[in-house]
Amino acid sequence: MASDIEIARAATLKPITEIGARLDIPADALESYGSTKAKVRSDFIAGLSDRPDGKLVLVTAINPTPAGEGKTTTTVGLGDGLNRIGKRAAICLREPSLGPCFGMKGGAAGGGHAQVVPMEDINLHFTGDFHAITSAHNLLSALIDNHIYWGNALGLDTRRITWRRVMDMNDRALRQIVSSLGGVANGFPREAGFDITVASEIMAILCLASDLADLQKRLGDIIVGYRRDRSAVTARDLEADGAMTVLLKEAMQPNLVQTLENNPAFVHGGPFANIAHGCNSVIATRTALKLADYVVTEAGFGADLGAEKFFDIKCRKAGLKPDAAVIVATVRALKMNGGVAREALGEENVEALVRGCVNLGRHIENVKSFGLPVVVAINHFISDTDAEVAALQAYAAEQGVEAVLCRHWADGSKGTEALARKVVEMVEGGTSNFAPIYPDDMPLMAKIETIATKIYRADGVAADKQVVEQLERWEADGFGHLPVCMAKTQYSFSADPTLRGAPTGHIVPVREVRLSAGAGFIVAICGEIMTMPGLPKVPSANHIRLDADGQIEGLF
Ligand code: ADP
Ligand code: MG
Repeated sequence: MASDIEIARAATLKPITEIGARLDIPADALESYGSTKAKVRSDFIAGLSDRPDGKLVLVTAINPTPAGEGKTTTTVGLGDGLNRIGKRAAICLREPSLGPCFGMKGGAAGGGHAQVVPMEDINLHFTGDFHAITSAHNLLSALIDNHIYWGNALGLDTRRITWRRVMDMNDRALRQIVSSLGGVANGFPREAGFDITVASEIMAILCLASDLADLQKRLGDIIVGYRRDRSAVTARDLEADGAMTVLLKEAMQPNLVQTLENNPAFVHGGPFANIAHGCNSVIATRTALKLADYVVTEAGFGADLGAEKFFDIKCRKAGLKPDAAVIVATVRALKMNGGVAREALGEENVEALVRGCVNLGRHIENVKSFGLPVVVAINHFISDTDAEVAALQAYAAEQGVEAVLCRHWADGSKGTEALARKVVEMVEGGTSNFAPIYPDDMPLMAKIETIATKIYRADGVAADKQVVEQLERWEADGFGHLPVCMAKTQYSFSADPTLRGAPTGHIVPVREVRLSAGAGFIVAICGEIMTMPGLPKVPSANHIRLDADGQIEGLF
């Protein structure tokens, strides 16, 4: 069987101007990066505002296996399927992070016959957005230490600096560091550390900002640390927002690429799905909605995290009204939710599958509770048996939802034709009545409790006095209207990754809360959250090389 990179390499790519023309983007509105990648110019985007919006379809999933359930693959497959049945459809995805490419095997540009290309570029340096975000972030870091070096007129408490440094590489050695060592000329030593670029608040800001002016305002709002009286110091106080915006000017323009079947795909922005909201940029989604009749987009992790944040953070803040949702389910993840160990997923086990279906059932109820019509996409793996697929379809039917078997990974758009028709039927039915699950003016703790009880079905939330008081202080300081970004394990509805299926009776522990004042959300941390991943014992970097023809080997 051909690997993802072999399939991608065999594709015939069209010039990016032709892909743009499919959406009536004139050639001079594209800034090309080579012949198959381009950025869509901001001035062109600004001129689209009066056009009507197309229909927005979210692809989300059940609680996954560690390998992922094929949300990206299904997003690409559905976009191709919609084009195949004659709809003008575009895809919106996140940009992959470079670090993980060299860690565990697996890209983030789809898989099999449902991929976006050129996949090597998209997975590696692409159009330099991550470089720009890393630079803007580290400029602010440098300005902070420089400000302290030259006398610290703002009175920053060097023990309470919250702004760290970032790089786009998995490097656990940099998680906690001491900076400014080496004597008087190097400043004041302090504890610091690095996160991976996708965990940068600037990534989340870029993905939520509506234009360059909004970007600069949000950059200025970033809180970098606190004074001894606990008052906040912002990036605006350091006069950093102007230069940071300059560094991000190009990165704010969405990237256009194509699928293996030459359909348009916007790949732009890639915030973490734990401490951030895990969706591609608002500007790319809005642009796609102005240019296409159907826009298919993905949210990170399972629907308990990804879809909830897509609805309650991205859609709420950007005024987006999604029209339908697709929940990706796989036989193997449902078996895992039914108690099967990862190593045994290849064997038929209808009983475990049926046991695990409660996980799917709860996600269906949850997504419906946001007012959206729902279809289940069964992302077919070759190890799935007919009996397992039939049992899954029967379960979905009992929930009043259709589960469509999809073979896009093996067959491309031919494998998602039925799903595409179902999605069109749901969208044209016009039944979507989208609403976020809590109002802006609800107290912050009540927002967390609403998500915990209504989405995770917990009995309640446990938080220390410190956490409760911190939330009250932020409310007093005028941040009470912000939505909450939950940082929780993706493997369970609960905060315990081993509790699969549809657990009840659990309590969600909120260990820490953080304010992302620029991005515009409060992060509630419910468990171990890694903002700088490490590499595994045998990283995939060990097997990545150029062959004699200069082609990349071993990437995926
Ligand atoms: P997610 O977006 O949910 O994390 P991806 O779409 O990135 O998942 O897929 C994760 C991995 O699984 C990729 O390497 C992809 O090639 C692979 N994959 C997805 N669907 C299938 C399938 N039907 N059969 C085999 N492998 C698949
Ligand atoms: Mg994905």
